[in-house]
Formats: sequence, C-alpha cells, structure tokens
Amino acid sequence: MKVFKFGGASVKDARGIRNLAQIVAQEKEDMIVVVSAIGKTTNALESVSEFHHAIMDDLSLDHYNRIYDAFVAQGELQSTRIVSAYLSANGQPNVWLDATHIMVTDTNYRAANVNMSATRERLLSAIAHYPAHVYVIQGFIGGTESGDVTTLGREGSDYSAAVFGAIVGASSVTVWKDVPGVLTADPRRHSNAQLIAEMNYDDAIRLTQSGAQIIHPKTIQPLMEHNIPLYVKPFAQPSEPGTIIHSQAKPLDIPVLWGK
Ligand code: ASP
Ligand code: MG
Repeated sequence: MKVFKFGGASVKDARGIRNLAQIVAQEKEDMIVVVSAIGKTTNALESVSEFHHAIMDDLSLDHYNRIYDAFVAQGELQSTRIVSAYLSANGQPNVWLDATHIMVTDTNYRAANVNMSATRERLLSAIAHYPAHVYVIQGFIGGTESGDVTTLGREGSDYSAAVFGAIVGASSVTVWKDVPGVLTADPRRHSNAQLIAEMNYDDAIRLTQSGAQIIHPKTIQPLMEHNIPLYVKPFAQPSEPGTIIHSQAKPLDIPVLWGK
C-alpha cells in the first residue's frame, strides 16, 4: 500500500483536482490519499474563527480552541468529499474515511498529540471493513476518544500521511507539492536553489527544524521508525523524480540555506 498526500495548493482549483485524479489513476498499488483543505481555506476559516474568539473573550467564555478545531476541520472534510466524489464520478471507486473517527488524539486542541495504538486499531479496522483500492482521508484533523474534533497543528497533513503510512506499513509515502522537490534554499529568495535528489532521514529532520517549510517537522519520525521512504514530488510534473528521503542516502555534502 502507498500513501499519497496532496496539499492545499495541489487541490486549489478544478484543474488541480483533475490532476490529482490522473496521478491516482496511474497507480497500481492500493492507496491512501490524504488531502488538505482547498487552497487557503484553512486561513479563511481561521480568520472567521478568530472573529468569534474576540466575542467569546469579551464575554469571558472559554473552550475557544475546541471550537476552533471543530470549525477549521471543515476545510478538510469538504475538500475530501469533493475529491472522493470526483474520483467516483470518473471511474475511480474509493472509500471516504472520516479522520475525526480514525486519527485518535488527546484533547490538546489545535496541537493534538496522536494516540498511535488507538489510531492503528481504528484505521486497520476501517480498512478491513471497507476493502478498496483507494481510500480518501483528511490530513491535519483527528478526534478525541470521546468524539470531539481536534487538529494536529497548522500544516499538519504531512504528519497525518506519515502516521497512516507507518500504521499500514506503506511501501512509500509521497507528498505532492508545488515545487520540484526538496530544494537547497527557498526558491523565492535564492534563484540558484538546487533540487536535492536524495537525502537521509537525519538530514531531513535537520532541514525541517531549520525552518524549511517543505515538510512538517513531525513527518520524518514515524517514517524513519518503519524505514518507509518519503518522496517529495511536483504535482504538475508527476513523472519527475523529485526528492527521495530514505535511510540509504549519504549525508548531504552541499550547503543548505533554508531558514537563512
Ligand atoms: N489545511 C491545514 C493548514 O493549512 C493543514 C495542511 O495544509 O497541512 O494548515
Ligand atoms: Mg493547508
């Protein structure tokens, strides 16, 4: 089984969702497709939520973070419904899964911690109950044991993909992005940014910690523990190799300028 993760930029419009369907159609292996909210939806939901926060503050009401999570999670719940419906309508049957019942977390709203063993049980039982070639599920969101919606922290979908990949023992996890792969520097600031063809998990962890907004910092750990390769690939050129992050890569011997 493989895990494909599509970020907000890759599903920002109808063209992006058609492209996602083409990428998925080319894959023979069974797959979990993890999708973020469409485009900048999370930012938009966040600002509406903040407006409510200000009023709640004034009224000395608490539990804002809990309300935030339930509200902001709508971005992923909607995007995955659209992706799932489009795949079905185009001859790609799939099973839509609800991460608020599968990704089990604690009650640390807005930055919830994943309960791996409970999540394992829920995900594997969902897969056993609904056998399919393609599963579509939300990144970033989860739920407490008692059923409250939670989120894992902004940009957390990569981490969701890694958690699901580790649980199913995926042959690989691929994060589809609007860049050619992992670059040596932020291409918006350094015109000579180079594609890194391969890197090991340790270098990848260092890179995510240095402020490179390429992959969520928590993504590498679960993959490293299960020796699952992570591909970072350009969704607009799916046949390009992108970057592979795996244990076999030699330490990087080129300067990396991210965060500088
Ligand atoms: N949609 C969420 C966010 O923008 C999660 C993600 O994109 O990874 O923060
Ligand atoms: Mg997003």
